[in-house]
Amino acid sequence: MLLAIRSVALGAMVLAMGPATTRGQEPVPATIETTMATHGDEIRQLAYDGRMATFFAAEKPATADDHFTIVFEKPVIVKSVVATTGRPDGSGKIDGGMLEASADGKSFHKLSGFTDGITRGEAQKEPVRAIRIRPGTTTAPIAIREVALVTDRPVPVFRYPVEFIVDTTDAPELKEWTQDVARTCERAYPMINDELASDGFQPPRVIRLTISKAYRGVAATASDRIIGSVDYFTNHRKDIGAMVHETVHVVQSYRRGKRPGWLVEGVSDYIRFFRYEPGKLGRINPRTAHHDGGYRVSAAFLAYLTAKYDPEIVRKLNAAMRDARYEDSLFEKLTGKDLKELDAEWRASLQP
Ligand SMILES: [Zn+2]
Repeated sequence: MLLAIRSVALGAMVLAMGPATTRGQEPVPATIETTMATHGDEIRQLAYDGRMATFFAAEKPATADDHFTIVFEKPVIVKSVVATTGRPDGSGKIDGGMLEASADGKSFHKLSGFTDGITRGEAQKEPVRAIRIRPGTTTAPIAIREVALVTDRPVPVFRYPVEFIVDTTDAPELKEWTQDVARTCERAYPMINDELASDGFQPPRVIRLTISKAYRGVAATASDRIIGSVDYFTNHRKDIGAMVHETVHVVQSYRRGKRPGWLVEGVSDYIRFFRYEPGKLGRINPRTAHHDGGYRVSAAFLAYLTAKYDPEIVRKLNAAMRDARYEDSLFEKLTGKDLKELDAEWRASLQP
């Protein structure tokens, strides 16, 4: 019971201290890099999600070279850091290891050691790019419950924890590329989920990304599995947006009910081209375009409705498809005009 009480207090402290020290500054995103494989769905980001109840669990005991590193996109001054390890039942604590920091993300210096699974790092005067936990050699797989940070600029916790599990058996030469893509899609996950939030919805937290030789398309998604073509991505390494598009499909989580294909792809490309990589959509031909053209064309149509009628329209359409209550008449409810009228109006707006 004691452990539970302390957990609550620590959690509350993080929440209370965050906004007060960081008000009015641009957030700095964090990424987690680790040499330790994840056990089941106790994923890395659960060690920095603002909650003491969840934790990262390693698959195997740690070795001397293992690390668990929080990398900041920009340097931040760490005013305090407390890392709590071990599962709620007390197993998987780190005792012999240490907490380290790095100004350049490459060379690290020691901040503090662990006592009874907890470490507290002193305030740093110089900005750092990364902090990391080195568990040292352990006899059992470790668990990291939470890293609580107070920094000069806000480093948001992972509100939608997610981890891509990558399979590059078919193309080992694409391993590094696929890992990079996975981290990019993980970074885009909070944005995608904010754009497509709906009541009571929790997105998947484990996504499997496989690069396949047998698959002949570009990329496809079924439930929480994404498949990408070795052929295509070998020749189009820059097309990471295609994988962000697939990640949107995972978040859409449409399971039943009506969902027109053009709108499913339109929502996905809307997030891609108007949120993830704005300006990359290209020109839409007003002579041939129709709202139900799918992909970029339908994305452009949705962007038009967003600007002209309702900034929340994509979120509302997505929620309706997710909850199996979508009908075409929803457009009329949201804009006062039916799809035919909206189509004509949008096309007219495209004329040079
Ligand atoms: Zn698609």
